[in-house]
Amino acid sequence: TIRVRFAPSPTGPLHIGGARSALFNYLWARKNNGTFIVRSEDTDLERSSRKSEQNILEALRWLNIQWNEGIEVGGDHGPYRQTDRLGLYAEYTEKLIAGGHAYYCYCSEEEIEQERQELLAKGETPRYLGKCRHLTAEQRAALEIEGRKPVVRFRVPKGQAIHISDQVRGDVVFESDGIGDYVIVKSDGIPTYNFAVVVDDITMGITHVIRGEEHLSNTPRQVLIYQALGVPAPEFAHISLIHNSEGRKMSKRDGDTAVIDYQRKGYLSEAIVNFIALLGWAPSGEKEFYTLDELAEAFTLDRVSKSPAVFDRHKLDYINTHYLKETSLEQLAELALPHLEELNIPSREKRSTEQQEWLETFVKAILDKISYLAEAKNYIHYFHGSIPLEPDGEAIDVLKGEQVPGVLALFKRKVQETETLTGETVKTLLKQMTKELKLGGKLVYMPVRVALTGQMHGPELYDIIPLLGRENVLGRIAMTEE
Ligand code: GLU
Repeated sequence: TIRVRFAPSPTGPLHIGGARSALFNYLWARKNNGTFIVRSEDTDLERSSRKSEQNILEALRWLNIQWNEGIEVGGDHGPYRQTDRLGLYAEYTEKLIAGGHAYYCYCSEEEIEQERQELLAKGETPRYLGKCRHLTAEQRAALEIEGRKPVVRFRVPKGQAIHISDQVRGDVVFESDGIGDYVIVKSDGIPTYNFAVVVDDITMGITHVIRGEEHLSNTPRQVLIYQALGVPAPEFAHISLIHNSEGRKMSKRDGDTAVIDYQRKGYLSEAIVNFIALLGWAPSGEKEFYTLDELAEAFTLDRVSKSPAVFDRHKLDYINTHYLKETSLEQLAELALPHLEELNIPSREKRSTEQQEWLETFVKAILDKISYLAEAKNYIHYFHGSIPLEPDGEAIDVLKGEQVPGVLALFKRKVQETETLTGETVKTLLKQMTKELKLGGKLVYMPVRVALTGQMHGPELYDIIPLLGRENVLGRIAMTEE
């Protein structure tokens, strides 16, 4: 059966690229009734933290990417943090050394650096040339006495073509001669990524390694370790890089790259999942919107593209807009709340029915205008408070029209006379005004709109007026008349 894993290094929040790797593994497992494992590659002791690990797990949970086995879930192949598996790596190190596939290296950093410089000067790729490959027991003992702490290096076989059949990239071949003997255990006893990941993938029975293309060049190093251990390598699928709209690798400079940035901005997790699924994977039909269940049904590795995926924020917004319309007003109100702090609306339990209604009506009124809920903030002034925005540009001219005082006076009277201001009563009121004044709609609505909001565009008047309420409406008109 299929076993796949997501193995983040907990050195920061979950990024879009990581979320995509997690999602593709999750989908591949679900599609095949397999097992999806989440484990932590926390051997970079300085940069790793439990806080980052938590952030990553929370982001996965928010996206509804659930794992069957791993951190916090448990399972038969644990522990699931590399720092808890050091004994296991030590066992495998012994095996490799005993088999002649790895050896202790006592070269100092300065010696390594010198070799590097010499190779560079000759125009060759810097690599370790194997000075400690054939140390005798006596030589080793002497170096130990000097107080040198060894690393363990993998003995790369000479003249071998390393074939990787990648499910996305096809056959990829690397020459072993381009790879120097690499460190698998550092002098402090901590294994390096390329070694620990192989031990983990073997001992966890991983069948498919689906991960970012940046790891393709690591793969031959990992394959050599499988060969040395006499274990068949898993299938590999390296998914393409994510580019920004300028065609360069997406980086923090491109704005929000962490999943939590989007959560905080009031994007819906369904939209993020749908969007990242389409980063490098293309379904066969025209369908654009996929739930997680539908993705699990449709996902195949052979429709994962080799060319870089482009992160298109407009497309994300488009997808989010779709899901916003599928979400209940009650839920949207909750998602909007963190962005409406200045309104001082209390939390759900402490909220009055009127406040709840106001909030839901507000969200409904702006639903066509926003792509994510942080944008709700831009609409507060339309619906709240007695002070309109100062009109500028063409809006100033609107209020200079000769019929304007008459329009506003009648509007004021109508507002005072209307028992309750609702969408319906406001529509009627505005219609009556055009009739009574014998003016075209625009000549009536535009001065009212500018007087109330300071702007010529914005949400519908029949949304604005009931949400503002009589007092604020009259207050705003009074300010315009001054
Ligand atoms: N810790 C690695 C990363 O976050 C995992 C790579 C792998 O999946 O092998 O990129």
